[in-house]
Amino acid sequence: MDGSKTPVTAPVFILLGPPGAGKGTQARKLEENHGFVQLSTGDLLRAAVAAGTDAGQRAKAVMEAGDLVSDEIVIAILRDRLAEADCAQGVILDGFPRTTVQAEALDRLLQSSGQRIDAAISLEVDDAAMVDRISGRFTCGDCGEGYHDSFKPMAKPGICDHCGGNEMKRRADDNAETVAQRLAAYHAQTAPLIDYYASQGALSRIPAMGAIEEIATTLDSVVAQATA
Ligand code: AMP
Repeated sequence: MDGSKTPVTAPVFILLGPPGAGKGTQARKLEENHGFVQLSTGDLLRAAVAAGTDAGQRAKAVMEAGDLVSDEIVIAILRDRLAEADCAQGVILDGFPRTTVQAEALDRLLQSSGQRIDAAISLEVDDAAMVDRISGRFTCGDCGEGYHDSFKPMAKPGICDHCGGNEMKRRADDNAETVAQRLAAYHAQTAPLIDYYASQGALSRIPAMGAIEEIATTLDSVVAQATA
């Protein structure tokens, strides 16, 4: 990474946790409550696939198999997005970094603009529950609000509570087989980042099997403490 673009100027939080841990849901809440920008490399990659960009074409099959897209592609996508002006409000990284190479690249990028991570927050969940969590989830196609068939149904079926939209989307990789591979990739390649950030003194662990609002309250206090 070369730091030659607009630098990130303020708070940087990382949400760590396996697929289904609630990173996206909690990142959206932090975005609403603190004005930070949620940066999901999964969303950026899905947009690249939908747009048929070169990176998207290279990432598509890898994502469908539940494997990790190459560090080179993901780092380039994240670097470009971080250089956009809205990121100066502070960012919540959701799904990045996922490998030590990505974590080191992020450190270098932030260092080059005199920044560092405010906190890496690990959402601690039971793996066994993740397949159920993921297989029932869907989002509003208009505003991106997340729902779950059992754990977070819409107040009026088919109508988004948040924006009134009526087109719901389920991700192609949210099926039992791919989820198993995504969990395996998490344990092999991403879980070591918990020690990586612990050794930097930047790690907070949050129990994340409870209610969405309870977890959000705990997260708010971690963010408040880190930015005080
Ligand atoms: P997510 O939306 O975070 O669950 O990501 C969906 C898929 O996108 C993952 O299963 C990976 O194939 C790919 N992906 C997202 N973020 C990354 C990343 N930081 N590194 C590598 N692959 C990623």
